[in-house]
Amino acid sequence: MTRSLALLLCLSAGLAAPVLAQHNAPKEAAPDKEPGEQTAADYAAQGRAQLEARLAMPVNQGKAKNLIIFIGDGMGVSTLTAARIWQGQKAGQDGESVETAIDAMPHAAMVKTYSHDFQVSDSAATATALVTGIKTRSGMLSVAPAAQRGQCDTAGGQDVPTLFEQAESAGKVLGLISTARITHATPASAYAHSVDRNWETNSELPEGASCRDIARQLVEWPHAKGLKLVLGGGRAAFIPRDQTDPEYAEGKGGRTDGRDLIAEWKAKHPKGQYIWNAAQFGALDAASDAPVLGLFEPSHMQFEADRASDKAGEPSLAEMTALAITKLGSSDTGYVLMVEGGRIDHAHHGGNAHRALDDTVAFEAAVAKALEMVDLADTLVLVTADHSHVFTIAGYPPRGTSIFGLASVTEDGEPLNAKDDKPYTTLGYANGPGAKVNEARADPSQEDTTALNYRQQATVPTSGETHGGEDVVLKAAGPSAHLFTGTLEQHSIYHIAKHILGM
Ligand SMILES: [Zn+2]
Repeated sequence: MTRSLALLLCLSAGLAAPVLAQHNAPKEAAPDKEPGEQTAADYAAQGRAQLEARLAMPVNQGKAKNLIIFIGDGMGVSTLTAARIWQGQKAGQDGESVETAIDAMPHAAMVKTYSHDFQVSDSAATATALVTGIKTRSGMLSVAPAAQRGQCDTAGGQDVPTLFEQAESAGKVLGLISTARITHATPASAYAHSVDRNWETNSELPEGASCRDIARQLVEWPHAKGLKLVLGGGRAAFIPRDQTDPEYAEGKGGRTDGRDLIAEWKAKHPKGQYIWNAAQFGALDAASDAPVLGLFEPSHMQFEADRASDKAGEPSLAEMTALAITKLGSSDTGYVLMVEGGRIDHAHHGGNAHRALDDTVAFEAAVAKALEMVDLADTLVLVTADHSHVFTIAGYPPRGTSIFGLASVTEDGEPLNAKDDKPYTTLGYANGPGAKVNEARADPSQEDTTALNYRQQATVPTSGETHGGEDVVLKAAGPSAHLFTGTLEQHSIYHIAKHILGM
């Protein structure tokens, strides 16, 4: 995967040999060595290879025909680092030095994530910044900050056009993928204008409010002509309350206005294909021009760690991404695709690092798949997060220690305890459900900290772990990707991407 990306980057650079590939896998280079046992010469060679790769890096000043924006919801830098180590350790490699496809992307910027009104933002305001080029109030979607959250009567005239709407007007085709509900904040920012992110279905609107709910906005979207592919969760917001869910006999729809938005979508798109399970996904013809609406769960799709046991089956994020690139890639006028790893955030809110890292590794696989498939001469690929989480990698665990293990163990395996005579895990949270109220913390050496359901300890007891306010990183590859550099305001990403698309 990493090797093929390196090859891809080098081919686009017109180089004969994949220089980037030389420094990514110490185990491969020296199979007789244990993880972490690189020599001084190995490190020096690794550093020189990274220098040479950069000296040979072409500067493509061109325009892009296509844009793929990958958003790892809540994927802060500590999440990227821990997931890299986990990805390597799962593959039996030296996790710390593994180079992921995201790592290998050539250009990067720091991104400031505060919203119009909050130091630490939510996903609605941050997604709005990415797709409309302005900051807005937390909780609001693609409306200007002059409106007030939750107040429908302040919404008039405040809609801000989105990159997706503008791309469709420019003749491009569109795709939206999320492992969260497709009406959830990040994907909704592309097509909905709402002063409240929670108005996903009509029953969530305030009594008598004239605003339209988010699911309805997706089906009524005037720009849906170009919308070729919508894949995610969130079926219930499209189905009336008296209708039974196709996957769960005990589940009902969420609408109280009697509308069946899936039937409305089918009527609007007579050739369109509506799907809700893995078998139907597998049977899709990627070469067909017919629009696809896939809603694989009543609410969010499964976490990657639980996906295999889903009742009706679900495609992986990489499989959905591959289908989208094939389907949208046949457009002569280009495409804009958003791919959200939506549940990294949810696992972190639950203080459950294992699921968060599994979802990040699945997100990385989707990025790798995209970089394998696209031509970086005409496709701009961006990978970023909307905001971070209060997730830390702490202590001094020796090289090669399980990322889910104890930080406080010496190289001889002896416990090195904190002031309360108990060891602690490498991964932890500044707040969250893993903290005890008026009770001493548990001894993690007496628990299986590598278990999928393990909740890392936290300092401050909150019911849900919170977002973090530090900058996130953005990685970029493709035409004029070098413009993504330095420290950027989050809303500047829209302006740079739009410039590169020549819109
Ligand atoms: Zn969140």
